[in-house]
Amino acid sequence: MSLLEIKDMTKQFGGLTAVDSLDLSIGRGEILGLIGPNGAGKSTAFNCVAGVFPPTNGSIVFDGEDITGQSPWDLCKKGMGRTFQIVKPFNALTALENVMVGAFATTSKRNEAEEKSAEVLDMLGMGDKKELKPGAMTIADRKRLEIAKALATDPKLLLLDEVMAGLRPTEVDEVIEIIRSLKESGMTIFVIEHIMRAIMALSDEIVVIQFGKKICQGVPEVVANDENVIKAYLGE
Ligand code: ADP
Ligand code: MG
Repeated sequence: MSLLEIKDMTKQFGGLTAVDSLDLSIGRGEILGLIGPNGAGKSTAFNCVAGVFPPTNGSIVFDGEDITGQSPWDLCKKGMGRTFQIVKPFNALTALENVMVGAFATTSKRNEAEEKSAEVLDMLGMGDKKELKPGAMTIADRKRLEIAKALATDPKLLLLDEVMAGLRPTEVDEVIEIIRSLKESGMTIFVIEHIMRAIMALSDEIVVIQFGKKICQGVPEVVANDENVIKAYLGE
């Protein structure tokens, strides 16, 4: 059975339909890419899945349970980890303390949270930046910190919303490698990304949305050559 199954999901903001009858599913251990022009509804779809707000219609089944409308905190404890497109670090806290906020979703013991957070930062190549505050970090490190906060919650499903935006090509390559190693460790990953070469390199399957509606779904090679997808991007 799939780890995540979204059925007929719609999200309206007043008269605007941001997500329109979306169906998709993600198999365990897979990477699903979600792409589409700016304003297509990608982040809104993530927000519904992660419980930021409930969908107007439709259902979301996670790990066999209907989780539609549950709170971000409950979902986090059930294994839903997510990053925000606009990173939101706690600026008064160090990198380590920021990550510990995530780790406290899985343990109430300070030493365990600290150990876990240090491990995650080491894995992301930020071992020497544990005491830095976000204001003193590069954009690339702030993005990595955002990933670290999500990873410290021990997610079964990791939702990554444009974690590569604003990075240099070599930094993009580093994040691609990080995501690959997470997949190798068995994690299931749902990724929104505007950088085409990254999404093509990482995804087992890609869903393309435009005006909230799915316009194409398939393996990267198929999606990249789809007429509707090319049109959607040319029109941007
Ligand atoms: P994407 O992530 O694909 O660029 P979004 O999901 O952010 O697109 O936005 C989809 C549409 O929904 C846009 O028209 C956006 O202005 C609108 N929207 C997103 N979030 C909200 C909100 N909280 N309130 C009202 N409108 C929103
Ligand atoms: Mg977005």
